[in-house]
Amino acid sequence: MTNKELADLLLPDVNSDISIYEKKYPERNLDKNAVVTRFAPSPTGFVHMGSLFASFIESKAAHDTNGVFYLRIEDTDQKRKVENGVTGIINDLKNFNISIDEGMTSETEEIGEYGPYTQSMRKDIYQAYVKHLVEEGLAYPCFCSAEEIEETRQIQEKRKQRIGYYGRFAKCRRLSHEEIAEKVKNGEPFIIRFKSPGSFDEKIRVHDLIKGDIEFPENDIDDVIMKSDGLPTYHFAHVIDDHLMRTTHVIRGDEWLPSLPKHIQMFKLMGFEPPKYAHISPIMKEEDGKKRKLSKRKDPEAAVSYYHEKGIPVEAVKLYLMTLANTNFEQWYDCNKDKTIDDFKFDFKKVSASGGLFDTDKLYNISKNYISYLKATEVYDRTLAWAEEYDTEFAELLKTYKDYSIKLFNIEREQKKPRKDYSCFSMIKSQIWYMYDELYKDVQEYEFGMINNKEDINNILKLYIDKYFDISDDKDTWFNKMKDLAEELGYAREVKEYKENPEAYKGHVGDISMVLRVALTSRSMTPDLYELMKLLGYDR
Ligand code: GLU
Repeated sequence: MTNKELADLLLPDVNSDISIYEKKYPERNLDKNAVVTRFAPSPTGFVHMGSLFASFIESKAAHDTNGVFYLRIEDTDQKRKVENGVTGIINDLKNFNISIDEGMTSETEEIGEYGPYTQSMRKDIYQAYVKHLVEEGLAYPCFCSAEEIEETRQIQEKRKQRIGYYGRFAKCRRLSHEEIAEKVKNGEPFIIRFKSPGSFDEKIRVHDLIKGDIEFPENDIDDVIMKSDGLPTYHFAHVIDDHLMRTTHVIRGDEWLPSLPKHIQMFKLMGFEPPKYAHISPIMKEEDGKKRKLSKRKDPEAAVSYYHEKGIPVEAVKLYLMTLANTNFEQWYDCNKDKTIDDFKFDFKKVSASGGLFDTDKLYNISKNYISYLKATEVYDRTLAWAEEYDTEFAELLKTYKDYSIKLFNIEREQKKPRKDYSCFSMIKSQIWYMYDELYKDVQEYEFGMINNKEDINNILKLYIDKYFDISDDKDTWFNKMKDLAEELGYAREVKEYKENPEAYKGHVGDISMVLRVALTSRSMTPDLYELMKLLGYDR
């Protein structure tokens, strides 16, 4: 019985002419350095920070080089499938403005010439290559039951041997064609394994674009390439898909690093050129002086929905991801404040091999800085969009007092050094509520400072209102009046005068304006007091 006859016996309905696919998915016509890469999640719906980070790097690497970034759905493990899981992933990518050039655009639709981009739709392709390998004598059926495999595993564990189907443990590798034919005729179920040509005592050296040169023992395990449901394993699908989709760079989490010898071996066995690999370390978090992986369970910021809920601008999250991705980005950005991420070139060599440390304070600082440079109308629109979803009472106020709110957001904005006070849209209300009568009720706490007894406060306010208050004053006039008021009550006109001679005064003009500020807002920290008073107007 020839290999060809064996292949026909095992996979009678499969056409093993792989030249069809090689022709259908030709080399891409792109620049020599163009990166073709993919985001290849399982359809579990939920994109967490780790995968958002990976997809961000992948799209950046592709788009910086006029390459291609595509979305492939890896659903060969049907158990992991979640209803509308693809939609969830697509929405998460959209929310972060990570655009794909090819791949899935909904649960069932896709764009691009290299599809289908969902693995379960590629069964014919995988099986053609599986059959081809059997014909070439490079793959064989394995009839071992799950129990037998488990038994072998236990024996290996007991004897402290490597776990797996290799060497003398690879029982079915030694079956003759006739023995196989017998089993098939008896209807025994089988899977297909590839015949590893490797030896564990030999070393291979691979270059990873992030981790550098790594030496591994060669793979000698006859891994499964086709499961009993006819679908491929991750490893085999990776090799076939990334070959046929003409991926140049496989950028993925470093949990796949140990599988790399196997993948490279499979590429070679198939006669394909392996892609370049870049394995990303997980994002880390420091807790009690120790580093650990950012955890979906423990860290709210590990979920991408967190950023939406907090109202952290997507642009700021991406700036932050860029600082995590490339260690030289921050410095570049400091020197190129007028530029955007798109002007910065991603560099694999500048990715930390040990994993970036997630720093929430830094993220909020970046966000604060980003928001401070937005136009007032944009702050308004985006705060409203956030509030429509998370705080409808505030949204109503923003809509009722639209112009007023925009003017409020414009205080100390749209200038060279804008005021940096809002670190995210969800925090804005807590910083400006006092400007809305509807919210200024039942105030419990007034943050009076130096001057905090009722009598002094009342005297200052009374004198101000009776003698100095005129809503039409310009800023200089207003400020001079504050100084007059200070002087009249025995406070220094200037902070400097007070500092030089503290015995001579009750305090200084700043203490007086603080009384006004707190009386109006209850807060000791606010935007420019004169501007606030102007905006409130006489009646308010
Ligand atoms: N489906 C794999 C995962 O979700 C993809 C790994 C890869 O990018 O190759 O981990």
